[in-house]
Amino acid sequence: MHAQLIDGKALAAAVKAEAAAETASLQAAGVTPCLAVILVGEDPASQVYVRGKIRDCAECGIRSLELRLPETTTQQELLDRIAALASDSTVHGILVQLPLPAGIDERAIIDAIPPEKDVDGFSPVNVGRMQTGQPCFLPCTPAGCIRMIESTGTVIDGKHAVVIGRSNIVGKPVAQLLLARNATVTICHSHTRNLRELCAQADILVAAVGHEAFVDGSMIKPGAVVIDVGINRGSDGKLHGDVNFAQAAERAAFLTPVPGGVGPMTRAMLMKNTTQAAAMQNGLSLEKMS
Ligand code: NDP
Repeated sequence: MHAQLIDGKALAAAVKAEAAAETASLQAAGVTPCLAVILVGEDPASQVYVRGKIRDCAECGIRSLELRLPETTTQQELLDRIAALASDSTVHGILVQLPLPAGIDERAIIDAIPPEKDVDGFSPVNVGRMQTGQPCFLPCTPAGCIRMIESTGTVIDGKHAVVIGRSNIVGKPVAQLLLARNATVTICHSHTRNLRELCAQADILVAAVGHEAFVDGSMIKPGAVVIDVGINRGSDGKLHGDVNFAQAAERAAFLTPVPGGVGPMTRAMLMKNTTQAAAMQNGLSLEKMS
């Protein structure tokens, strides 16, 4: 193996330690950060994700509220719950676990979360602020990807970054964050004609496709930084990324594993957004407190 692994677990532990230190500073100023997580229905994967988020909060000293609502919850009932949390000054972050059951309009729900409590960074206001380079909550997975790239010492400025995928939660925002750091960014998707050739030119390759081993070794420029966002349940029952790990490891300079890569970083960045939200809502600055 040639590539150096980017250890998501170790990086996430460092980010969570930062969040824990911020929580301690906030508590000293009389504020206990609090994240409310709403889960509607019984989706097993969502239950695992929510449990993980609640555990992370405990680890960082952040108070958490877990609201489990039945599959039969109506859109209006969910909107009412969000409105109650929105007006509760002891709650700083509101997260609705996606996907929602059929019959509930996801967009209407996301839009109902006030931007200052939108720690997922999905609300139109936060997306717009990110696009225009204003302070905002960055979506957790893209922010985690950037932190992982930067952890390698790679200078993003001037590099050719190729992002495979253009979803609102991963592909588009990760491309935007790379652009904001002066990368030349190519976004590939299911209509891209010369995807293999484009990927092979990438100094930084981010795969967010949702297809196991979509990226093979020949699509990786020797010496590239490869960030594998994909989480796919393989026929062996295990989790696999979008990148053929063994082949990529022979060509990339840096590579994220799956599991143990982007996943843990996503969760850690949520903790940072929550402490940031608590500070902002109380007129405090984490920079000044550290
Ligand atoms: P989406 O399904 O929303 O988006 C997938 C993107 O990949 C789309 O833009 C789609 O193109 C593109 N795509 C699909 N097939 C092809 C193809 N054959 N060639 C080129 N492009 C293709 O997925 P998400 O962005 O939500 O997630 C992507 C992956 O990342 C999933 O495996 C998901 O589980 C994982 N994930 C991991 C997270 C983590 O914390 N590690 C967090 C979020 C997601 P088009 O737009 O044209 O349809």
